[in-house]
Amino acid sequence: MASEFKIVRFVYGGEEDLGYLIGGYIIPFKEIGGLPKYLSYPFADDDDILRIFSVGDLSGYKALRIEDVQIVNPIRFPGKIVCVGLNYMDHVREGGREPPKDIVFFMKPRTALAGPFDTIYVPRIVKKLDYEGELAVVIGKRGRNIPVEEAYEYVLGYMVMNDVSARDFQFSDGQWTRGKGFDGFAPIGPWIVPREFIPDPHSLGIKTWLDGELRQDGNTKDMIFKIPEIIKKASEVMTLEPGDIISTGTPAGVGIFDKTGEKLIQDGSVVRIEIEKIGFIENRFRFVD
Ligand code: MG
Repeated sequence: MASEFKIVRFVYGGEEDLGYLIGGYIIPFKEIGGLPKYLSYPFADDDDILRIFSVGDLSGYKALRIEDVQIVNPIRFPGKIVCVGLNYMDHVREGGREPPKDIVFFMKPRTALAGPFDTIYVPRIVKKLDYEGELAVVIGKRGRNIPVEEAYEYVLGYMVMNDVSARDFQFSDGQWTRGKGFDGFAPIGPWIVPREFIPDPHSLGIKTWLDGELRQDGNTKDMIFKIPEIIKKASEVMTLEPGDIISTGTPAGVGIFDKTGEKLIQDGSVVRIEIEKIGFIENRFRFVD
């Protein structure tokens, strides 16, 4: 296929579907013979979903305009959401920490997922709500003990993720399950950009705005552990499966460590995260009882 495309999940006419997004138009997968297995539920076992790239000319198919659909989170039922902590040196330093000697992983539950433009409702028991703009990797092929040299073969593509964090719970608990695991603490999207269109994921500008103020302005080149190393180290521990999400850490500029005082997410705040060559997600946060 000649043109670049993205993989998008959307609602149109009350029905949810997936499709290719090409230049402002969406071609639903059902138009071209069905849903790739990895995005259906339950997951394919050990199918290599990269075959979806082998489709031919799409010019004859019925397309929808992107303005006419609602874009929702591109992955609905990931087997797991793995996150890397402390993976940008400037972020390690702003927290007054030493760089990690080995990679730090933690996980979020699937129920933390939210759409790229959803309003996220957070219980008022959270007192210190913060954002972390991150590049997320979507796994496309099952693997264990994946060598660094082969790691990119296991990547379906990339998207934006906000590793939303309740700093009060995160710091008081000594581990991060509660602080990172509330419903809605993993908005993703706005779509998946296949890896073949991002030959170097370590050259992407990543920016976060809180209520219009630019708060994070980093580049994925500054990751301490790069994506092939992350995949190697994650797959030493757990089998990676199609649809799994790995979020790769955040650069400096989170709200909790601001030099002039905490700049946290307030009731009604809007967080926008944009990554070069991918797009942006933008979520409003509301506190609820
Ligand atoms: Mg993070």
